[in-house]
Amino acid sequence: MKVVVVGGGISGLTAAFSLLKADPDADVTILESTGRIGGVISTLFDEDCVIEEGPDSFLTSKPWAVSLCEELGLLDQLIATNDANRRAFIATDGRLQPLPEGFFLLAPTKIWPFIDSPILSVRGKIAAALESLKAPIQSCEDETLKDFVVRRFGEELFERIAQPMVGGIYTGDPEKLSAAATLPQFVEMEQKYGSVTRGLLTHGRLNSKDSGARYSAFASMNLGLQALVENLGDKIGRDKIQLNSGLRTISTSAERWKLVTCSGQSQEADVVVLAAPAQSVSGIISSLDSSLSANLASIEHASSAILNLLFDKNDITHPLDGFGFVVPERERKSIIACSFSSTKFKGRAPANKVLMRVFLGGALHPDVFALSDGHLIKVALEDLRTYLGITSYPLKIWLKRWPNAMPQYHLGHLELVRQIKQRFLNHRGLIWAGSALTGVGIPDCVRAGFEAAQLVRVYQRESVTD
Ligand SMILES: Cc1cc2nc3c(=O)[nH]c(=O)nc-3n(C[C@H](O)[C@H](O)[C@H](O)COP(=O)(O)OP(=O)(O)OC[C@H]3O[C@@H](n4cnc5c(N)ncnc54)[C@H](O)[C@@H]3O)c2cc1C
Repeated sequence: MKVVVVGGGISGLTAAFSLLKADPDADVTILESTGRIGGVISTLFDEDCVIEEGPDSFLTSKPWAVSLCEELGLLDQLIATNDANRRAFIATDGRLQPLPEGFFLLAPTKIWPFIDSPILSVRGKIAAALESLKAPIQSCEDETLKDFVVRRFGEELFERIAQPMVGGIYTGDPEKLSAAATLPQFVEMEQKYGSVTRGLLTHGRLNSKDSGARYSAFASMNLGLQALVENLGDKIGRDKIQLNSGLRTISTSAERWKLVTCSGQSQEADVVVLAAPAQSVSGIISSLDSSLSANLASIEHASSAILNLLFDKNDITHPLDGFGFVVPERERKSIIACSFSSTKFKGRAPANKVLMRVFLGGALHPDVFALSDGHLIKVALEDLRTYLGITSYPLKIWLKRWPNAMPQYHLGHLELVRQIKQRFLNHRGLIWAGSALTGVGIPDCVRAGFEAAQLVRVYQRESVTD
């Protein structure tokens, strides 16, 4: 039985690896449209630095990426965030303020650090503290992330903390993002424990010293995340990966799938795993199933740019004693967030240098993403000067743009996903894997790859018994 995996990002590579691990003789081919594997995972080595152009780490509390590393024999290459300085800052009125200890994305779990923090006014703190006394909502209707946070914690906590924290993860617009699709654990806590704060406390899921969304319980690889996808490529076998072979269309012919690539080459397959971005898959299947194609096309994607900047340590006034900072919309700046890469992970830059990553664009700043390279760098440096007291131009700059790369789980996303999954059932042997439906983080994509491989095996078994 021939399996073709479309897309050589982490989702597709995981699916192919998992299939071949279960059966090393399986007939598996990956079609990848570009000249490299990894998709948005991309690491550069330059100036003795490890430069992440896309993601730089993954959550370890979602177990699938760590499990994959274990299966690949890569656990010894995993690195944790530095214990010292494990905290994040929030830009507040032109200055960086530490996120209170014990604050978990939306909610404080420690009273004194929260009371002591200058980020919220007294009124804002009282509104947030009353969350644990508020009755849970009775309706099951989906609501936006903004509505959820404001309803539970008040407008001020939303504006000053939740918006930039969540905005930094999803590069999204909280007035459009679905609370149930983007932060299901918080929505469930309200229902299960009556309040998010009570849920967090009961769960005791926090390491008491951690704070921040991006910065706790994250891991990376000592040589960057590209090492993970290259290792997958080696284990799968490079002969099974066809680079520069974007799939253009798919149709059925005599109960097999007929695939035609952009260069006009065709091949047949019994099972096709679609692990390319939703817009791309929408185009591939447009003549096969126009409704499914339209459903996939309706998932909006945000564009973002990542600037990696190398500085001399002496040229930065701020001690960089944290993993980075996020910038609320109310600050009216161009940058969304900044990670202090060389503080966050050991070995990212030489000892006397500082490497940082700045995020721009996203759903709230398409105008910034549209700026020319020179202009983009100029506005980013202006903002960094405000918050970090940078006194000179960077020693080196690496700019990477990711157009339409981040799926946005907008209001109604869960219902859309239900419809899409239902629709896929009409196409036996056509299997979805990717970030646009059930999780954008690397662990979620790995899980999607594992699940797709499992569905292929089920399909194979059913075909044998048929
Ligand atoms: C800028 C950025 C930063 C991020 N940071 C983090 C982070 O720090 N931690 C984290 O956990 N997650 C992060 N994410 C999310 C996570 O990295 C991605 O969701 C995940 O890597 C997506 O993997 P994927 O394989 O599903 O898709 P992709 O990486 O997009 O791979 C899809 C592949 O399909 C190929 N393709 C497209 N069309 C076709 C076609 N027609 N035929 C064949 N191939 C095709 C593409 O070339 C690509 O290689 C980030 C995302 C972005 C964009």
